[in-house]
Amino acid sequence: MEQIKILIVEDEPVLALDLAKKLRKLGYEIIDIVSTGELAVNLVKQTQLDLIFMDIKLKGAIDGIETATQILQIEDIPIVYLTGYVDEETVERAEHSGCYGYMLKPCKPIELYATIKIVLKKHKELTKAKISLFNKSQSISLKQSNYNLITQLPNRLYLQEKFSQTLEQQNADINLQYNELHDFKIATIIYLNIDRFYRINNNLGHKYGNLLLQQIAQRLQTILSDEVLIAHLNADEFAIVFFAVENRQQILQSINRVTQQFERPFLLNKREIFLTTSIGIAVYPWDSTEIEQLLQKAYQAMSQAKQQGGNQYKFYQPTVEKEESDILTLETDLRYALGRKELQLYYQPQISLKTGSIVGVEALIRWHHPHKGIISPSIFIPLAEQTGLINALGEWVLLKACQQMKTWQLKSLAVDRIAVNLSGRQFNQVDLGKILIKILKRTQLDSHCLELELTESTLIADLDLTIRQLNTLKSLGIKISVDDFGTGYSSFSYLQNFPFDILKIDRSFIKNIDQNCKNAAITKALIQMAHQLNLKVIAEGVETKKELSFLRKNKCDEVQGYFFSPPLSVCEFELLLQKHQVAKTIPN
Ligand code: C2E
Ligand code: MG
Ligand code: MG
Repeated sequence: MEQIKILIVEDEPVLALDLAKKLRKLGYEIIDIVSTGELAVNLVKQTQLDLIFMDIKLKGAIDGIETATQILQIEDIPIVYLTGYVDEETVERAEHSGCYGYMLKPCKPIELYATIKIVLKKHKELTKAKISLFNKSQSISLKQSNYNLITQLPNRLYLQEKFSQTLEQQNADINLQYNELHDFKIATIIYLNIDRFYRINNNLGHKYGNLLLQQIAQRLQTILSDEVLIAHLNADEFAIVFFAVENRQQILQSINRVTQQFERPFLLNKREIFLTTSIGIAVYPWDSTEIEQLLQKAYQAMSQAKQQGGNQYKFYQPTVEKEESDILTLETDLRYALGRKELQLYYQPQISLKTGSIVGVEALIRWHHPHKGIISPSIFIPLAEQTGLINALGEWVLLKACQQMKTWQLKSLAVDRIAVNLSGRQFNQVDLGKILIKILKRTQLDSHCLELELTESTLIADLDLTIRQLNTLKSLGIKISVDDFGTGYSSFSYLQNFPFDILKIDRSFIKNIDQNCKNAAITKALIQMAHQLNLKVIAEGVETKKELSFLRKNKCDEVQGYFFSPPLSVCEFELLLQKHQVAKTIPN
């Protein structure tokens, strides 16, 4: 009999190991033990599972019930909750999350055995019922289980089957032509993930999320041919396989054909939505000859693209595999980084286009890892968010930045304001106001000199809370800017209704703005609109003179980017300020 594959999600190591031991004794296979919801969701995307035991109280950003909800959106796997206690509210939440059972820890082997038997039987029956409902008039056809119910695109199973069939056919053709295998074809496997898709589901609801997926599927189908396979893998993830590719040039062309589909906006609920994608690529037969392995490698490359900010593609590189496992060690290292003084703030100037002076500075965190060198905040900030370390880390950044600003003011090297990035979890802290008051008092910094940068995703997560927090910040006299504007939801109505001071246009719009008409038009419109709303506009990531000229011509207020200066250490930044002050006293 086939072994039942079980995943344990439990952050209490002793309990997790005890449960694994009992289950193994009962003859079940433990695929893995993970300690956070995020790890569980990732694993589900890559591994075939029969059952999950899920602790409800998990230490990470999402608890067991939320994890189960996310998993069930990806795949229909039976989930049994484990808990140390029972209360009304939790039971009710659990009940609505589509779980199969609820067990009190620690569980006895006999209870485990009985529960697993019942759950698997119930799941089998339900699956059967669902399939027959779906097929309605037709007899149950195996084929149906090969298609995604939302988009009607083939799923992973179909892709697996069809991939080897197509390859066999291709090789047969080549053999026929040349009588030997001296010419072999390659295939590009593209793993595509929609950036920040969860925001659509969170804000417009699953109905619109599904409608959007259908539109995406329709667009992707326009590239379908005998030599292209497309599959909807799960939630917001698709795989596109291009066969009969002959060289690198053609691989790049195939990627282009996919990304082109996202150049035009999608229309949803009468709104235009621009989507970006993170793409990972594996190539047959270089990276592997097995489709499962190829998909896994393309997935790893996609994760890397995502970690580097999304809206880009990455080829699979063998080192990625190692990096993935390094993440766990990194998490532990990060816990000690603050105490070991491995964290440091760098400062990047913001220049007024009217006066040419440095008017602001953004504090950006750096981690000098003892073995790995400098680690980008795009990697460790999300990690700190997941583990909850972000609050302590964020408070440290605020304190350091305010202290530094005060020191510069005392040295008469001051700029008008210092900007500090705030992550979502930090912004949602109930006592954020108190923390800020404490820091401003301790550093004696005037609150008007402090600016907090928030991203769109932070702002739209919980609108009531956002309004409350923004009002607190405003009442303290702190400035608020919207960071990376344009990359996400880009809702103009909240720009109107929330008390923002500054809009920061994301780097992706500024890049080559002198050549890219679409970005030029968007940026122009954004600047005009922001001015009408009395917001100051900062363009991020200005790298060339041409980009600068465009922004100047279109009345952008301030710029930030490598063209003027990358983020600098305290000493370097002081030198820059001094040089700038001298330059300003010399008439031109
Ligand atoms: P961000 O707030 O949008 O910061 C701008 C990022 O763009 C910085 O990356 C900066 O080094 C980079 N950048 C600036 N000018 C240019 C340019 O001309 N070209 C290019 N290619 N890049 C440019 P960095 O320092 O790696 O930070 C990445 C992100 O990490 C930040 O994006 C911010 O969201 C986050 N972050 C950084 N420090 C903190 C922090 O203290 N707390 C929190 N919560 N997040 C932080
Ligand atoms: Mg920022
Ligand atoms: Mg930014």
